[in-house]
Amino acid sequence: MKFLHLTLIAVASFAFATIASAYVLEGPTWSASTVTFQLRLGNAGRTLTDGNTSWDVAAQPAVLAWNANMGSLQLAANINPGAPLSSGDGINSIGFSNTANGQSFGSGTLAITLYWYSGGRMTEADVYVNNKMSWDSYRGPLRYGSNTYAIGDIQRVLIHEVGHAIGLNHPDQHGQNVDAIMNSVISNRYTTSADDIRGSQAMYGVGQAQPTPTPSPSPTPNPNQPRVSVSVAPGTASVGNSAIFTITLASVNPNAPTTVSYSMSGSAGATLYSLNPAGQVTIPAGASSANVTLTVLKRPKRSRTAIMNLGSSSGYIVSTPSTATITITR
Ligand SMILES: [Zn+2]
Repeated sequence: MKFLHLTLIAVASFAFATIASAYVLEGPTWSASTVTFQLRLGNAGRTLTDGNTSWDVAAQPAVLAWNANMGSLQLAANINPGAPLSSGDGINSIGFSNTANGQSFGSGTLAITLYWYSGGRMTEADVYVNNKMSWDSYRGPLRYGSNTYAIGDIQRVLIHEVGHAIGLNHPDQHGQNVDAIMNSVISNRYTTSADDIRGSQAMYGVGQAQPTPTPSPSPTPNPNQPRVSVSVAPGTASVGNSAIFTITLASVNPNAPTTVSYSMSGSAGATLYSLNPAGQVTIPAGASSANVTLTVLKRPKRSRTAIMNLGSSSGYIVSTPSTATITITR
């Protein structure tokens, strides 16, 4: 099995070591709050594996993939068949090409991002997609062509290249061993990883809106199952302070512990606070409740909410209130 390398050629190269962080930054960042890419990949001329018939439509989610978690920067993608693909024109373009702005692609290179910057600020980024490679649009594990090379998934490759365009480098080429779409080698990963997101947030802060988790389907309630609910006190906390979520059983089970899972949502990013215990809490046999302590680690620029959502399980019934909200104040 051969791997294809996604290569970055920067206008000038940076080796930028970060301490205790696996992501690696290129150095320059955007100061604009919105950066728009012109998509000029064109029509596929066939139906791709994910059902798209346009490379541009298949590519749009890749540009937008970084938005949900970033604070001060948002990306936009215009389908614009007439957009030029050339570096130094001030237009951020993504298109197929047989060269990267006149330079040949290296062997096995799927795409190259060229960026321009001045005074530490990005001014332009263009993604040149190698039109000599095999392309499709699909999710899931890598698929391989008859030549044993991976078939380029336009979406995951462009999530990677757009990662370069916002300022991320290859962790694996800077001594880091981490699950990241920013690694230099294309892999079964087709979405941003937690480390990729942390890298984007190191440059642009934490996005305001964290997506609310989709509730898992609940099993049919058994009336004999324990019922759990959640409350929190105090309802606000600031940096250095804590609040206690209390998960309560409606009826004590003297014979067995009850482990209750939970997830967090709300406008506060996960780096703003810690949770102990994280992810789930066990109510001991004979006890009626257990606590999760939220400690505020950072001062937000404005008030944020952290919402505990009790997870469903075959071992208990989620009763009301099933959520509890704390406001993290400045
Ligand atoms: Zn790369």
